[in-house]
Amino acid sequence: MNRSNQKIEMHPLQIQQMLSASHTSLIIGVLLAMILAYMQRVVVPSAVIIAWLTLTVLIALSRASLLVAYKLSPADDYSVIRARLLKFRIGVLVAGAVWGSASFAMIPAHDPQHQLFFVFMLAGLTAGGVVSFSADFVSAAGYALATLIPVAISLFIAKDDLSVAMGISVMLYLGFMIIILRYLNKNLTENVRLRLEAVAREETVRASEERYRLLLTHSPVGIFHYDTDLVITYCNDRLAAILRNSIEHITGLDMKTLKDQSIHHALNNAIADRIGSYEGRYWATHSDSNAWIDMTCAPSRDEKGRIVGGIAIVQDITERKVAADAIQNLAFYDPLTLLPNRRLLTDRLQQALASSLRNDRAGALLFIDLDNFKSLNDNLGHDIGDLLLKQVAQRLTSSVREGDTVARIGGDEFVVILEDLSKHPVQSAEQTEAIGKKILAVLNQPYQLVAHEYHTTSSIGATLFHDHELGIEELMKQADIAMYQAKKGGRNALHFFAPKMQDIINSLASIESDLRKALRDRQFQLHYQTQVDDSNRPYGAEALIRWIHPERGMIPPLQFIPLAEETGLILPIGKWVLDTACAQLKAWQLDTLTRDLILSVNISSKQFRQADFVAQIQTAVWQHAIDATRLKLEITESMLLENIDGVVTTMNALKAIGIRFSLDDFGTGFSSLQYLKRLPLDQIKIDQSFVRDLTIDSNDRAIVRTIIAMARSLKLDVIAEGVETEEQRQLLLNKGCSHFQGNLFGEPIPIEQFEALLMDPAIT
Ligand code: C2E
Ligand code: MG
Ligand code: MG
Repeated sequence: MNRSNQKIEMHPLQIQQMLSASHTSLIIGVLLAMILAYMQRVVVPSAVIIAWLTLTVLIALSRASLLVAYKLSPADDYSVIRARLLKFRIGVLVAGAVWGSASFAMIPAHDPQHQLFFVFMLAGLTAGGVVSFSADFVSAAGYALATLIPVAISLFIAKDDLSVAMGISVMLYLGFMIIILRYLNKNLTENVRLRLEAVAREETVRASEERYRLLLTHSPVGIFHYDTDLVITYCNDRLAAILRNSIEHITGLDMKTLKDQSIHHALNNAIADRIGSYEGRYWATHSDSNAWIDMTCAPSRDEKGRIVGGIAIVQDITERKVAADAIQNLAFYDPLTLLPNRRLLTDRLQQALASSLRNDRAGALLFIDLDNFKSLNDNLGHDIGDLLLKQVAQRLTSSVREGDTVARIGGDEFVVILEDLSKHPVQSAEQTEAIGKKILAVLNQPYQLVAHEYHTTSSIGATLFHDHELGIEELMKQADIAMYQAKKGGRNALHFFAPKMQDIINSLASIESDLRKALRDRQFQLHYQTQVDDSNRPYGAEALIRWIHPERGMIPPLQFIPLAEETGLILPIGKWVLDTACAQLKAWQLDTLTRDLILSVNISSKQFRQADFVAQIQTAVWQHAIDATRLKLEITESMLLENIDGVVTTMNALKAIGIRFSLDDFGTGFSSLQYLKRLPLDQIKIDQSFVRDLTIDSNDRAIVRTIIAMARSLKLDVIAEGVETEEQRQLLLNKGCSHFQGNLFGEPIPIEQFEALLMDPAIT
C-alpha cells in the first residue's frame, strides 16, 4: 500500500467493495420507498407522498450515477478516489436524511400501527445499509444516525407510552448497530490489510523465485540438485552443455547407475552435512564426453533444516587444464624427446641427493654426449638429427630402471641419474659401470633414420654421489669433465670423474688468461643483427659480441661466454658491451634515420645479480646521454630460478628510467606463467630451437602458438629469433608473431655494414 492511499485510511479496494455492494441497497431502498408511499396513500396527502417519493428516487438515481461512473472508470488517482468517496458519503447521508424526514412527513402522529410499520421498515433498511456501507465507518454510521434519529425524535414527541418505548428501542437499536458497525468495520479493514500484505508477500516470493530461476538457468557454471538417493532433481543449461546431454535426460537420473563414480565421494559428503569437492577428469556416461571438472557440493535442506539432498556446482576446467599442462610441459620437458629438461633434472637431482642421504644409498650422474652428432645434423639435416635424438631418448629410457631419471639438457647431451646404488664405493662404481656400458652398447646399435641406416657412438662421463657433500653444480661439472675426458680418450667410452684433471683445468686457465688479454687489447667487437616488424621494417638490432682472436680468427660467443661467466670475466666484458652499445645508441640518436632504433643487449645472470647493476646501467645512460627507452636488455629464464623477488626489484628500478626488457630464449627453460606475470617485461623472444623446425614439427608449432597466446594474455610483444626462411616467417606471422630476427633479414654484421644495410632502400 503506498503512502497516498494510507492517507484516505480506506484502501481503494475497500471503497470498491463498498460501492459494488451498495447498488443492492439502492434498489431495496427504492422498493421500500414505493411500498411506504403506497401504504401511506390513505393517511398522507398525495402531494407530500409524490414529493417525498420523487426526492427519494432522484437521490437514488444520483447515487446510482456515481456507481456507474465508478464502474466505468475505476481510478487509481488519490484525489479522484477521495472526491468520489466524499460524494458517496454525501449521497448516503442525504438518502438517510430523506428516510429520516419520512418519520415527520409520511407518518401521522399517534397512529401506532403506521408508526410500527414504519419503524420496522426503517430498522430493516438501516440494518441493510449499515452492512452494505460497513467498509466506511463514516458512511454507515452517518446513514444509521440520519435515518433513525428523526424517527426516535418523532416518537418521543408523540409522548404516549408506546411511542416513547418505541423511541427508546430505536435508540438502543441505533447504539447496538453502531457498536456492531465498529466491530464489522475493524474486521473488514483488518481483512483488507491482511489480504494486501499476503499479495505483496506473494509477489516478493514470486519475484525472488524468478530471479533465482534466471540465475540458475543462465549461470556460467553448471548447477544440479539431487536428493538423498543421488537422483538428480534439477539441472541448468550449462550442466547439460558440459555433459553434452539434454536437461530432460539428466533430470531424474540416478547417479548410482553412472559409469564414472569419481564424483560420488563429494556427492555423499554433502548428504552427510559436509562440503564435498572433486577436481579431475569426468567421463559422462551417456554422451561419453570426457572433461576436466571442478565440482563443489553442499547440503540442501527443507524448511525444518533436515538434509534432503545436495546442490552441486560444476565448472568445466578442461581448457585451463590443457593450458596449464602445456605450460608445465614447456617448463619441465624437452619438447622434442619429451624427456625432463635441465630444470626438472636439477629438481630431480636435488631429490636424489636428499634421498641418498636419508637412505644411506649411493647414486650416480651420467653425462652422455653423442659422438659426431654435429656432422649428422650438417650432412643429413635437422629432421634426421631430431629423429636420432628421439630414438636415443627411447633407448636410454628403456636402459634404466623406472625410478631413474633420463633428461635432455642440450643439443645432443643427455643426463641420467641412477639412484639406490650400493653404499660401498667400489660396488656402486661397478653398478654404475655396468649400466654405463649397457647404455654405450644400446646406443651403438644401428638406427633406422627414414631411409638411412645410421651408426653412432657416444661418450659417457660418470660421477658418484652419496650425500649432500657436493652441490648440484659441482656434480654436474664433474660429470661434464668426465665426459670431456671420455671424448678426449677416443670417444665411445665411459669415464669416471677423476679428481686429478689438472690438464683440463690448465687448459681452461689458459683461455681465461687469453680472455683477459682480449679485454686489454680490445679484441672484442660488437656485431649487429637487425630486428624487423611484421612489414619487414627494421626497428632495431641485437648487439652480439665477437672475439677477433689474433691467431684463431673470429670466435663466436658460445665458445667463450660460458667460460667468461664461470671465471667472472663476464663482468668486465659485459661492461664493455654495454658501453659500446650505449655509444652506438648515442650516435644513432643524432641521426634522423636511426634515431628511433632500439638496441638489444644480452645480459648474463652474473651481471644482472651484481649489487650495483642498476647503478651501472643508470651511469651508462647518463654518461652517454641516451634516451633510455631505446635500450633493451635481454635476460634469460635461468635468472629467474633464484631470488625472483630480487629480479623483479632490479627490473622495476630500471623500468622506472625507461629501460625495456626482453626475455631471451623463451621456452627452453623455466616458464612459469605465475612468475612471468610478475616481471615488468616488454617482450618475449621465442627461442630459435622452436623456429628451426616450425615448418615440419607440429609439436613446435603448438608450442609457438601457446607462447604467443601466453604473451598476448600478458600483453607482451613477441619476437621470434633464428628466422631463416620466408616459410617460417609466414607461419609465425599467421600465428600472431609481430617481430622477427634471423638470417632471413640479415646476419649479425659489423656496424659499418649494418648501417649500409639500413641505407639500402630495398629493405627500408
Ligand atoms: P642469443 O642472445 O639467443 O642470440 C641469438 C643467436 O642466434 C646469435 O648467436 C645469432 O647469431 C644467432 N642467430 C641469429 N639469427 C639466426 C638464424 O637465422 N639462424 C641461426 N642458426 N642462428 C641465428 P651468437 O651471436 O653466436 O650468440 C650466441 C649467444 O651468445 C647469444 O644467444 C647470447 O646468449 C650470447 N651472447 C652474444 N653476445 C653476448 C653479449 O654481448 N653478452 C652476453 N652475456 N651474451 C652474449
Ligand atoms: Mg639475445
Ligand atoms: Mg636467444
